[in-house]
Amino acid sequence: MPPRKRTPGATILAVANQKGGVAKTTSVASLGAAFAQLGKRVLLVDLDAQACLTFSLGVDPDAVEESMHQVLLGQAGIADIVIECDDGVDLAPASIELAGTEAVLLGRPAREFVLQGALKEVAKDYDVILLDCSPSLGVLTLGALTAANGLVIPMPCEMLSHRGVGQLLDTVADVKKYLNKKLDVVGILPTLFDGRSNHAQEVLADVGERYGIPVLDPPIPRTVRFAEAPAVGRSILATAKSSKGAKAYRDVAESLLPRL
Ligand code: ADP
Ligand code: MG
Repeated sequence: MPPRKRTPGATILAVANQKGGVAKTTSVASLGAAFAQLGKRVLLVDLDAQACLTFSLGVDPDAVEESMHQVLLGQAGIADIVIECDDGVDLAPASIELAGTEAVLLGRPAREFVLQGALKEVAKDYDVILLDCSPSLGVLTLGALTAANGLVIPMPCEMLSHRGVGQLLDTVADVKKYLNKKLDVVGILPTLFDGRSNHAQEVLADVGERYGIPVLDPPIPRTVRFAEAPAVGRSILATAKSSKGAKAYRDVAESLLPRL
């Protein structure tokens, strides 16, 4: 008999930064659409009770019957809650109930491993799974770092915007020690980048060396197009295909392909 081919599982990337408004959700939606355009099977997981990813993909979080809340409490499988979206990606949605998930999980043993277990069930169905984290280093984010192979850290190129990165990397060190040896920091993704600003250029030049981690390229430019996209339930890769923001996300997705 010929040797059986191993079915490769999805590469799981957590997109995290405990600071809000750094373009985590925008990056998950845009990179997801870019990977789908590159022919990859993509699952996006909304781990933020504010459900911005869910909303921005055209799904009403209040109308979702089962969300990641039920999955994390073991009441549903991911495959049961997945919704196919127009951007060619699958979404495991959030709902407002997710605001209470951490409180329930806190009383449970091995809570950091629940998401990893849930994702195993669907890993063979996807090439890449992107985890959109909430702006905190709470249980759900720790669960994402435990389940992930890689971490992408979106970071605006502004003064003080990198102040939380050191703390995030300390958490990553703990996660690697106690929860997930395989976690690899893929790099900082510079977002909201204004190429005309000397200051933004300086931050971009400094940040990789400061933390000793890679900086993904190209930086994502600040453009008004991003504010418009979620309103129609599509990412900027659909609403403004040829904008420089869409192109930047496509280029970053292509640069990540060898890691999948
Ligand atoms: P987070 O998930 O980290 O809180 P979001 O992705 O929700 O951040 O982005 C925060 C805000 O910034 C949103 O209003 C979004 O539309 C806007 N935004 C994100 N990326 C860009 C960009 N490249 N240019 C302009 N606005 C952007
Ligand atoms: Mg968000």
